[in-house]
Amino acid sequence: MELLQLKELDDRYVLNSYKRYPVQIVRGEGPYVFDEQGNRYLDFLSGIAVNALGYGHPAITEAIKKQAEELVHASNLFYTEGSVQLARTLCEISGMNKVFYCNSGAEANELAVKLARAHSNANDGKKTKLVCLKNSFHGRTSASLSVTKSAEYGDKFFPLLEEPVFVDINDQKALIDAVKEDTACVIIEPVQGEGGIHVATKEYLQLARELTERYNALLVFDEVQSGLGRTGGYFGYQFSLIQPDVITLAKPIAAGLPMGAVLMTDEVASLITYGDHGSTFGGNCICSAAALAFLNVMKSDKMLNHIREISKYLFDSLEKLKTKYSFIKDIRGRGLMIGIELEKYANDIHIDLMKDERLITNCTAGTVIRLLPPYIITKEHVDEAIASLDKIFSRYDQES
Ligand SMILES: *Cc1c(COP(=O)(O)O)cnc(C)c1O
Repeated sequence: MELLQLKELDDRYVLNSYKRYPVQIVRGEGPYVFDEQGNRYLDFLSGIAVNALGYGHPAITEAIKKQAEELVHASNLFYTEGSVQLARTLCEISGMNKVFYCNSGAEANELAVKLARAHSNANDGKKTKLVCLKNSFHGRTSASLSVTKSAEYGDKFFPLLEEPVFVDINDQKALIDAVKEDTACVIIEPVQGEGGIHVATKEYLQLARELTERYNALLVFDEVQSGLGRTGGYFGYQFSLIQPDVITLAKPIAAGLPMGAVLMTDEVASLITYGDHGSTFGGNCICSAAALAFLNVMKSDKMLNHIREISKYLFDSLEKLKTKYSFIKDIRGRGLMIGIELEKYANDIHIDLMKDERLITNCTAGTVIRLLPPYIITKEHVDEAIASLDKIFSRYDQES
């Protein structure tokens, strides 16, 4: 269908909750997508951190095909091997003990908040305070939105849950002041995504662990965006050498299919018994098969090493750009989760990158160009993206 006609139908029938780019995507291959006219775009956003292995990865396609022929869905009333194998793998790479499956990041965080409530009620019921970070993003359901600190996402829907306490990332004093006897949980994205790519320091995460232990509160790491390779480790927190009580996952977990997961310690898992929580589609056979195939590729292709190497190359290339353009304020992030903070123009530049250079990025927190390329990119793809950034940056440089 032609773009204009498609846009008209979309406007008419699909809820206006997303502002779309004027691009129709019909096909993908490696790190590229194609529009209906055959134009090729280099995708440095990966369907918002979802398509971690790019498009059409043979191992993922094969796993989905095979599983579709055998069994699409069975429900959680029965045993299925894929979901159990996946749970075992997730526990092995995280050091956690138990897994719950759901279908999205928000849904995963929903359970994290419920676990914090159950934890409080298993004690004196007075641990009601949720401690969260400014610039956080945890999803759009009522509970996950409650712990998200950005009015842009929610004030139309207030009141949500009782207002949590919000503290600045890496502000140790604020965290010490916030976490007390009445704290149910502290929820942190080890690398904040939607909030503009802010990396929590090792010391901050260690302090969060120390305080939550002291006051018997749960430490929840939202790794929905930063998890499963994105930062160059399986998890964004792992460099901090501590373990949380709960980890939430989604975006890349099934390499493009909808899936979420909550990993937890045995102690947290003991808060839940039959019937306490559920999700009809959770652990779906095809999603589990795709996720297992994804984690297999991560291991067999030594993907974490590759991510760290290509990340260094990308960061070095971006640092060179930074010396050329004074409006680049900061380059930050970890692995392949990178923010280019600009003094101005970020929103226009990311549109021009798409329109004129066919490089897909996005703009987050108003001033940050966010890069979330698929893990499979090579130096050639990085060079291609850097050339595009250079070209558009220089255009704006002349304007200023
Ligand atoms: C995207 C995101 C979510 C929400 O995930 P959905 O699948 O959209 O519900 C939660 N937390 C973080 C850190 C995210 O990046």
